[in-house]
Amino acid sequence: MQNFLDRIAQIVGAQHLITAAAATQKYTTELRQRYASECRAVVLPADPEQVAAVVTCCAAAKVSMVPQGGNTGAVGGAVARREQVIINLGRMNRILEVDAANYSMRVQAGCVLADIQQAARRHERFFPLSLGAQGSCQIGGNLATNAGGINVLRYGSARDLTLGLEAVLADGRRYCGLSNVRKNNTGYDLKNLFIGSEGTLGIITAADLKLFPLARAQAAAVVGLQDADSALALLSSLRAATGDCLTTFELMANIAVQAAVAHIPRQSDPLPQQHPWYALIVATTSHTAAESDDAETALQRQLESCLAQAMQQDIVQDAALATNDRQAQQLLRLRENIVTAQAFEGGSIKHDISVPLAQVPEFLRRAQHAVQAAMPGARPYAYGHMGDGNIHFNISQPPDMERAAFLAQAPQIHELVHEIVHQLNGSFSAEHGIGIAKLDDMKKYKDAVSLALYQQIKRAFDPHNLFNPGKVNP
Ligand SMILES: Cc1cc2nc3c(=O)[nH]c(=O)nc-3n(C[C@H](O)[C@H](O)[C@H](O)COP(=O)(O)OP(=O)(O)OC[C@H]3O[C@@H](n4cnc5c(N)ncnc54)[C@H](O)[C@@H]3O)c2cc1C
Repeated sequence: MQNFLDRIAQIVGAQHLITAAAATQKYTTELRQRYASECRAVVLPADPEQVAAVVTCCAAAKVSMVPQGGNTGAVGGAVARREQVIINLGRMNRILEVDAANYSMRVQAGCVLADIQQAARRHERFFPLSLGAQGSCQIGGNLATNAGGINVLRYGSARDLTLGLEAVLADGRRYCGLSNVRKNNTGYDLKNLFIGSEGTLGIITAADLKLFPLARAQAAAVVGLQDADSALALLSSLRAATGDCLTTFELMANIAVQAAVAHIPRQSDPLPQQHPWYALIVATTSHTAAESDDAETALQRQLESCLAQAMQQDIVQDAALATNDRQAQQLLRLRENIVTAQAFEGGSIKHDISVPLAQVPEFLRRAQHAVQAAMPGARPYAYGHMGDGNIHFNISQPPDMERAAFLAQAPQIHELVHEIVHQLNGSFSAEHGIGIAKLDDMKKYKDAVSLALYQQIKRAFDPHNLFNPGKVNP
């Protein structure tokens, strides 16, 4: 085995092969501390050639590999076992090209998402993928999980934002699917197999991404609502009135907003009174710089008038509108802070579900009722990307229950919630993927033909099961 590690060290340089347990901890600490993660070594390649050489070396020694990005994934996809090697792409963090005229950019897989957004902005362009972990997650991880986030309503998920990609295959060959053309009907669309494959089919090393005109005018608001039906009615009227301008529509339960107010320094409730539900709304347009002031005022007026109308119709109870960028950022921070604040509320049983938009209120009614009937005192802490039907239906522990006893009931609670999602024709994993967290749900809810096809695809790409074994495919 030492020979094997020596060969890897020769490829990447000894300082980029980490074997000491204390030093590997950064890569084996799992986000939710739900799964134990260990590894034989962490390898940090510098370029696709090194990735290919490392993969070839692992394949020859029959050592399985866990591709890893920022290690922020929510389903244990980057968790490793003691005998495995983690291949972390963090050193491959170069923006290779921004083609402003073509509205595209080429990046290495280890680029941090926030750096990609900034690079696009420097060229007066916009890369819309945006999520809470953007300061540390990598684009390779975003593509491997087909990440969603707060702008899916208008721009789609990571898959919709990808023109082409490059990946290293299990036998060390390089699949070169980099391409920045928008129309390319030349055979099967292989890039879409790697996107969402969670490191089970290949290691993504670079990608071509779509860019958009930079938004020059923005209007943002937080509104108070009586129920989720009102949120649905408001979303529908806002889309009709603002069309493509609506980028973000995030629903937040009162418990989540109040947790952020209680636990996060300087976070206040934007509204003077509490409401059962809140929604964060963002609309943007990309008018030219000369028009930008007027465009912003016009957009804010449009949002204000929609909300005034919704208040007259008793759809909206109260609203706080941002009048400048600083206030808009404060409203957006509330949505980010409710994620952090939940940890202060004790144990949490988490769900990342989607249902057809019109069924969101029915889902919330049924799921809240079922969970509270099964576990009196349980506190549904729901929030999420309502604009695309995705709710993070998290349950905070009853205050008088032991954390461990509460978490031990996770399987039963998952079953209750996912069964309701299934009845409403939704998905038990909207944007986080399968990893190891949702293998049982795959078995239960995926049809036999899909599962059989997945296994055939896995065998075709990775016949010796070297890439992320035990993930995605039950
Ligand atoms: C605060 C917070 C907020 C979040 N919000 C959202 C959200 O709004 N929407 C959302 O979709 N997710 C969200 N997430 C989850 C997570 O950030 C995303 O899943 C992200 O896309 C993972 O990227 P990563 O680089 O951290 O990947 P990792 O966690 O390192 O890996 C995730 C999976 O991708 C595979 N992988 C990683 N890199 C590669 C590669 N180069 N080639 C092949 N496979 C690879 C891994 O093997 C693993 O299966 C959030 C997480 C946090 C902590």
